Amino acid sequence: MTSFDTLPLKPALLASVETLGYATMTPVQAQSLPPMLEGRDVIAQAQTGSGKTAAFGLSLLQSIDVDTIRLQALVLCPTRELADQVSKAIRKLAANIPNVKLLTLCGGMPLGPQLASLTHDPHIVVGTPGRVQEHLKRESLHGGGIKVLVLDEADRMLDMGFTEAIDDIIGRIAKHHQTLLFSATYPDEIRAVSKRVQRDPVEVTVDAPADEKPAIEQRFHEVEPAQKPDALAQLLGGVHATDTGMNQTLVFCNMRREVDAVAQELDRRGFSALALHGDMEQRDRDEVLVRFANHSCAVLVATDVAARGLDIAALPLVVSYDIAHDPETHTHRIGRTGRAGQSGLAITLCTPRERPKAANIEELNGTPLRWVPLKISPARSKTLHLAPMKTLVIDAGRQDKLRPGDILGALTGDAGLAAKDIGKIDVFATRAYVAISRALANKALERLRAGKIKGRNFRVRPLG
Ligand code: AMP
Repeated sequence: MTSFDTLPLKPALLASVETLGYATMTPVQAQSLPPMLEGRDVIAQAQTGSGKTAAFGLSLLQSIDVDTIRLQALVLCPTRELADQVSKAIRKLAANIPNVKLLTLCGGMPLGPQLASLTHDPHIVVGTPGRVQEHLKRESLHGGGIKVLVLDEADRMLDMGFTEAIDDIIGRIAKHHQTLLFSATYPDEIRAVSKRVQRDPVEVTVDAPADEKPAIEQRFHEVEPAQKPDALAQLLGGVHATDTGMNQTLVFCNMRREVDAVAQELDRRGFSALALHGDMEQRDRDEVLVRFANHSCAVLVATDVAARGLDIAALPLVVSYDIAHDPETHTHRIGRTGRAGQSGLAITLCTPRERPKAANIEELNGTPLRWVPLKISPARSKTLHLAPMKTLVIDAGRQDKLRPGDILGALTGDAGLAAKDIGKIDVFATRAYVAISRALANKALERLRAGKIKGRNFRVRPLG
């Protein structure tokens, strides 16, 4: 157990670490921070939840010089959602360093406002490869002063076809920079990228000691394709009936079409279920992520890529409705459950034809899979498995200077709700979402419509 003050970090960064309540370094931090702070290139095998963001975040903040108005650190992430999370985490770590300018630049967002905010180079950019490449090409962003390049979730970026964009970006930035590569898995392609873009990197692999390894129980059920909807509803019904009401399940499908169909089928069967995939508009995706995180959707059905945006520490149950095409993706999926010492259950449905894929997983694991016979009973009468909360949307946000406290104030003040019935509040640029205990959601809606928020009347409506 090593504490952060053994590191040569700026006092401002040590202060942030203390405010955030990080008492000791996580294993990834303890191994990667010393070489990173010496300026070495590092390749680290690290999952979400390992503390990797704080590791590279602290290191890059240590390197930048705020008085030099130049882009000095670039973090590339596979998705906008991850880029948002990373930006948020770095901002928190930078809280005690005055005047640090960080910009998030992602695709799927209009270019105009991004160009407008680039009149001066920020110190740090966090973004997705395609959009960052575009800005470097247009010279709306200048890479000549970059000291640190971070490739976060590098394996996913390769999966998503960003290899060329990354190579092009590297060709457009300062020749001498430190490259920090983080990846959950180490396929040959990652080794090849490391060889291409890193100099004598320090390798960090962290094998959690046995007693700290999260207890993930894995179960495989063989089912015929036509049985899958009943099997899923039955498995979810069991879990969502016995829980404390705060359960969240993530269901993976291999195809977008299937994601929609499964979510609709679950909805029809009385579950608060939503679909998440890349064909959806960004705003709809944000909305789904908000509703899942704030407990007003109990089951999220998603494709692998779309699920990367989820920022939820430990899901109690992960279901593969379709077995993953390759063992690495399977490992990724089950890694969404049982984090940080909490137990989790990962269930995989597998049709007889998909058995070879299960065999590949078995081979990678090196241990036999646990096949459990599933007795599927015909669907009983419809039982409701609703999420404990319901989301209200307010058509106002940061642009209207609306803050979470204003919404909380309106609900607990005039509307007369107790704070315990109000859940997560998310404020975006032009809208805000608040989770309310399901039973009181209508009352909250009426009161908000009748009263005012921050002295003004905004449109409020329920979701779902
Ligand atoms: P990440 O792996 O970067 O997604 O981080 C996972 C979570 O661990 C985040 O919520 C961090 O705030 C938290 N975290 C990072 N470093 C530490 C630490 N040293 N001690 C406790 N929590 C940490």
